[in-house]
Amino acid sequence: MNKLHVSTLAEKKIRRGVQLLDSKDFQNLGEINQLIALYGQSGNFLGTAYLSVQNKGIGWLLSKDKIQLTKSYFVSLFEEARKKRSTYESSDLTTAYRLFNQDGDNFGGLTIDLYNDFVLISWYNSFVYDLRLLIVEAFQEVFPNVKGGYEKIRFKGVGYESSHLFGHEAPTTFTVLENGVKYSVFMNDGLMTGIFLDQHEVRDSLVNGLALGKTVLNMFSYTAAFSVAAAMGGAAETTSVDLAKRSRELSQAHFDANALPTDNHHFIVMDVFEYFKYAKRKGLYFDVIVIDPPSFARNKKQTFSVTKDYHKLISQAVDILSSKGIIIASTNASNVSIGQFKAQLEKGFGNTKHSYLDLKQLPSDFAINTADENSNYLKVYTIKVKK
Ligand code: SAH
Repeated sequence: MNKLHVSTLAEKKIRRGVQLLDSKDFQNLGEINQLIALYGQSGNFLGTAYLSVQNKGIGWLLSKDKIQLTKSYFVSLFEEARKKRSTYESSDLTTAYRLFNQDGDNFGGLTIDLYNDFVLISWYNSFVYDLRLLIVEAFQEVFPNVKGGYEKIRFKGVGYESSHLFGHEAPTTFTVLENGVKYSVFMNDGLMTGIFLDQHEVRDSLVNGLALGKTVLNMFSYTAAFSVAAAMGGAAETTSVDLAKRSRELSQAHFDANALPTDNHHFIVMDVFEYFKYAKRKGLYFDVIVIDPPSFARNKKQTFSVTKDYHKLISQAVDILSSKGIIIASTNASNVSIGQFKAQLEKGFGNTKHSYLDLKQLPSDFAINTADENSNYLKVYTIKVKK
């Protein structure tokens, strides 16, 4: 195994428990896409890692020991991961959740999500991708009941982004359960699946009281999963706004899956900033406004980034919020700390009175590396606004 020395700063980070490695951690990277032994500046052994190009960082520390990536190594990782999710496994009400989450389960660059009897495996770099046969073999040993798997390629260099990987093929679309609510999902159509599993606790709060009798506006709605949760939780009316034309039929599919008539549920294909203007002009008000933008978006007219522009979403939401209304403000930007996010929210509220009811972060199936704030990317505030 090749040896590499890391900087003193990187050694401290690794000792704290951070697993994500950065190109800055090394003076000389050498050959990537291989297992390496990491050493500190004084020649002390730090652990086994791999280096590979991905959308963030340059690789991952895997263990503080000397290890080999054998089938049995992955079997024990998967057994550990399975144990952590025993509550999910024994639930009849939730059949879709994350089985394996990167460094939270001690192997960065890999996630595995369960959708009923099927799994979706995401490869974040070519090193894990090259190990996929071994990983699938180990996975099937620990999860023999999983009928089939699909893969998503989340790095550049392979000519496809989604494919069937092993076992049976899943129906083109099928429904999964989350907290008793049905969602229509698809395994093999681009990188998305119809639902973002990391938001299950936010949807639960909408199912369990937050939306009861309320009018709900769902901004950046994608497949309107928050709206269907709100509708199942007794919302009087929901309005889902997304720029993507396809969002309409995908949203309808979630409602159909639950046999919910959509007379009081509206799907609007529009830029959210245009919709804010429209709602203001028409004098529309909403009791609950959910805001869940992508970290970064660009359309013909403007760019949006959570770090700079989130406050605009808040101030415009306040304008069309009923008195004593609720804003659910979410971001999945890992480069934005809780403090920075709150500063954006504060800027948006200005002098408007408000109180924070709750901060939700990743649910327990999205195991995080507690030593690394970067792995704890989700932040969702529920805020009561007194106008
Ligand atoms: N809230 C969703 C996930 C949102 S994903 C859920 O819980 O499932 C981000 C969505 O924002 C995408 O569907 C994208 O089409 C939409 N989007 C991006 N920029 C937008 C804009 N300016 N106006 C409306 N929708 C936008």
